[in-house]
Amino acid sequence: MPAEKVVIIGSGPAGLTAALYAARANLAPVLVEGLEAGGQLMLTTAVENFPGFPDGIMGPELMAKMREQAVHFGTQVLQGDVTSVDLLKRPLTLQLADGRRISTETLIIATGASARWLDIGSDRRLAGHGVSTCATCDGYFFRGKPIAVAGGGDSAMEEAIYLTRFASKVYVIHRRDTLRASKIMQDKAFKNPKITFVWDSAIEHVNDVERGEVTGITLRNLKTGELSDLALDGVFIAIGHTPNTRLFRGQIELDENGYVLTHSGTKTNVPGVFAAGDVQDHHYRQAITAAGSGCMAAIDAERYLEGLPDEDEATNDTAYALPRG
Ligand code: NAP
Repeated sequence: MPAEKVVIIGSGPAGLTAALYAARANLAPVLVEGLEAGGQLMLTTAVENFPGFPDGIMGPELMAKMREQAVHFGTQVLQGDVTSVDLLKRPLTLQLADGRRISTETLIIATGASARWLDIGSDRRLAGHGVSTCATCDGYFFRGKPIAVAGGGDSAMEEAIYLTRFASKVYVIHRRDTLRASKIMQDKAFKNPKITFVWDSAIEHVNDVERGEVTGITLRNLKTGELSDLALDGVFIAIGHTPNTRLFRGQIELDENGYVLTHSGTKTNVPGVFAAGDVQDHHYRQAITAAGSGCMAAIDAERYLEGLPDEDEATNDTAYALPRG
């Protein structure tokens, strides 16, 4: 079997946008949709910050539309779990759990990052119904309401500070009595009159799973073992993300936290392998930025296949001569 031109792993906004652009460039992309098809937006309810939907759109519906658009232009979607890749030989190869093997000239990695959850069950069950892992996405829904943020790192401080724009009160629940966050973020959070710290405590349970909405949390003081209830309307889990890069370890350059290192757009250190979305971005982590980088990855793959020089080396004339539409 001849090698595919473009294979994309991941079916969140980055992967599907890469597929759309590659399909419209006649590259007949193959997109391997993992077990968590659709990515993190499948865990959210209303999305109000994706341009083009003035009344908002449900996360799963947005992903279904992106998928439909990618397929409409000729993307072949394969369901399956990629169990290993070989990026050190040409063509690049992917092995799927069901025994299928795919070879390709270029690969776009769009496997995302998974938000860490608390491991208590109730947080995941109320995801999108008052529990969120993204303040930028969901803060707006908690105008005038009390909420909690779990975590003691920079993300938790950043989210807590951001959420004070909307919430009446923000409780930061941390399992120790000192923060991991940088001094500057700590100072900002300590100075904010809307933020109250609850130290040495873990969220034991998010209530009320039976009602399908957040009414409060049950806390355990980790020093005394004492349980207490706190009434609130929302919980933001900010205990870090894990990039989904296990497959690529030892084959492409990752940073110290496991994110794919990209340069000059979406290029990795392996020629013909590109990365887009949260798997290479721990800073913005938005659907729209992931989609934007998916578009970039498809254009970078197209340039690579055409044997064009790096954008940095190309003249503007060469760059604009590419068919994009
Ligand atoms: P992080 O630094 O790893 O912090 C995670 C926090 O969550 C820690 O306080 C940790 O507690 C807590 N935690 C982890 N697992 C938990 C669990 N199961 N239950 C309860 N609490 C738990 O992650 P991050 O805050 O997402 O930051 C990741 C990286 O991005 C860091 O390098 C950070 O500096 C950077 N970042 C920077 C900015 C900024 O500069 N504006 C913003 C966001 C992130 P312990 O402290 O007890 O371990």
